[in-house]
Amino acid sequence: MKKDYYDILGVSKSASSDEIKKAYRKLAQKYHPDKKGGDEEKFKEINEAYQVLSNEKKRTQYDRFGSNFNQAGGGAGGGAGFGGFDPSQFDFSQFSGDFGDIGDIFGSFFSGGMGGRARSQKRGSDIEVGVSITLEEAYRGVEKKIQFQTETLCNTCEGKGHLKDATIKECSVCKGSGEIREQRRTMFGSFMQVRECENCLGTGKVASKPCTDCQGKGRKKGTQSVTVHIPQGIRNGQVIKVPEKGQAGVLNNPSGDAYIRVRIEPHKTFQVEGDNLVATKNIFLKDLLKEKTISLTHVSGKSVTIDIPRGESLLKPVILKGEGMPRGNSFSFGGGSHGDLIVYLNLITPKKMNKKALEHAQKLSEELENE
Ligand SMILES: [Zn+2]
Ligand SMILES: [Zn+2]
Repeated sequence: MKKDYYDILGVSKSASSDEIKKAYRKLAQKYHPDKKGGDEEKFKEINEAYQVLSNEKKRTQYDRFGSNFNQAGGGAGGGAGFGGFDPSQFDFSQFSGDFGDIGDIFGSFFSGGMGGRARSQKRGSDIEVGVSITLEEAYRGVEKKIQFQTETLCNTCEGKGHLKDATIKECSVCKGSGEIREQRRTMFGSFMQVRECENCLGTGKVASKPCTDCQGKGRKKGTQSVTVHIPQGIRNGQVIKVPEKGQAGVLNNPSGDAYIRVRIEPHKTFQVEGDNLVATKNIFLKDLLKEKTISLTHVSGKSVTIDIPRGESLLKPVILKGEGMPRGNSFSFGGGSHGDLIVYLNLITPKKMNKKALEHAQKLSEELENE
């Protein structure tokens, strides 16, 4: 006996795929077996009709050969002929019963194979991670290896999501397009909504043996290692983008990017102000009196010599031109231009002076007065 799939869905032979989908949705809601007034037989029939009429190839065959087209066409035959979904084998007890969203229907209907309700994007997410470096490292540039937890490529299936000997079929939900298109009606009018097919994670294909390590997603929790070159002159809080080192994509789709936020640890001597390095150097009375210069270990590791100012206030800093941080963009232009080093000399007075020292101080003050 030939079933009339068009009759079952209540559409004409020339109905568009949209009309078929709409009719199917309406009827599936009406006859859902968990619903009051539902009808399991009718529900199966509706699904069978929809499986055929919503697939262009199957619909053409059906129009030519009728509902026995599977045999007539010499195709797969048998129960599970329709893209892996056999309405007569369908277990209604597993059905959620909530028809609020067509996405839920598909999610619970056809989640065999890839087992996913995940609404994940195909591309992995971008990830921001922090790294702390010393001021010395910021000054000369440094390479850092950073590790963080994210989803990484599944090595078991090499990101394919299925085992080597799996058979691949066209996804019955999206008919291989990887997309679900649905007409949405709102108070502002109706519009077409397109989203990724959850059954096949947007690939249009479903594998018979999904990888159990990654649940067919091709990615799983793991440790990502990123080696990042932090250029000289980096400033606290700056971010370096490392392309495709973020979360792995679904099924070998591109990974997200890693954004490395650099934190410069506080330094005991130097602070960074703009392109300048600012330091406060303690100077003792004895040095002030008898030395011409004092030295300071620079963040570059070298020793810099500071002339002790004469005839000046120590509140005024000593400025060493070009001894500051590499300028903001010198790393990108290979410039080599630097800010300045600004040193405040901080006079530490003697705690106490013994008798001899006081005698010398007396003589010294007389000498200085005479100048
Ligand atoms: Zn896997
Ligand atoms: Zn699909």
